[in-house]
Amino acid sequence: MTTLAPPATIAFIGLGMMGRPMAARLVEAGFTLRLYDLSQKAMSDFVGAHPSALATASAKAAAQGADAVVTMLPDGKAVRQALLEGREAAREGLATGALVIDMSSSNPVDTQKLARDLAALGVALLDAPVSGGVKRAVDGSLSIMVGGAMADLERARPAFAAMGKTITLCGPAGAGHALKALNNYLSASGLVAMCEALVVGEAFGLDPGTMVDVFNSSTGKSNATEVKGRQFVVPRTFAAGFTTGLMAKDLRTAAEVAAHLDLNMPMLKQTVAYWADASGKLGASADHTEIFRYAEMLADVQS
Ligand code: NAD
Repeated sequence: MTTLAPPATIAFIGLGMMGRPMAARLVEAGFTLRLYDLSQKAMSDFVGAHPSALATASAKAAAQGADAVVTMLPDGKAVRQALLEGREAAREGLATGALVIDMSSSNPVDTQKLARDLAALGVALLDAPVSGGVKRAVDGSLSIMVGGAMADLERARPAFAAMGKTITLCGPAGAGHALKALNNYLSASGLVAMCEALVVGEAFGLDPGTMVDVFNSSTGKSNATEVKGRQFVVPRTFAAGFTTGLMAKDLRTAAEVAAHLDLNMPMLKQTVAYWADASGKLGASADHTEIFRYAEMLADVQS
């Protein structure tokens, strides 16, 4: 088993809000990149900025000659399509012994099946979803939650080190994806709590900026108050780079994991319903910080 060190070749599939900066970090670290995205423009923009990367016509073409395939796609269904089931899927180009790393936020139960299916082809899988958003993807300081074998993580470590700062082995296949979905449950509920508090506080006559500053020096502090309040909610710029639709998907995933384990989680169910309705009303492509506008709508506050 060879280590995935530069200038090893990585097929990078999915150049969206997160994939773009993550792939850029790999190029800058000296990896050779073969790209694939359904969007031709996503690929040509990337190659314009990083001419050493090669745009290809399919996941199969991207995988040809690659030591590893990284996927950064909307969900596990898109990952399965790109890797195994779609037309010209990566499996047709993958060499035995190659490593697949799914960095998307996929459903962990599907990931366990994907790991078995890939193992039958002689290909190892790591699930390695990330947290930190676009900002930390740009500066290469993501938190990477890994599921799979320690030996495969060690193989991939130089690539992970180019994209992230905290790399945690969470357990076997699916463990990273499970932890990511649960992390986003905390993130989503913390954001809603901050937004509801701001709506109530403003109606009472409090200044929202002052409220966020006080939360940040008090026990109400959270990721929402620290990196979303002053930055995107109070100025109403709503441009964190993560959509309401993707957050709703992550919450559904967390609830599916709980249901799979026969665990009743009432607040999680409530949070899933809240974000599903918000995603319908705001539009799935609305930035997730627009959940503040949804909180205002529910409170019947004019914005
Ligand atoms: P995005 O929608 O911006 O990008 C997805 C990209 O995948 C698009 O360029 C799209 O064209 C491409 N794509 C979709 N299906 C494809 C297929 N079958 N083959 C090839 N390309 C395909 O999404 P994003 O915000 O970059 O998020 C990607 C993943 O990372 C999601 O699972 C998301 O939940 C997770 N995530 C996002 C953030 C964030 O802040 N945006 C943070 C952490 C994790």
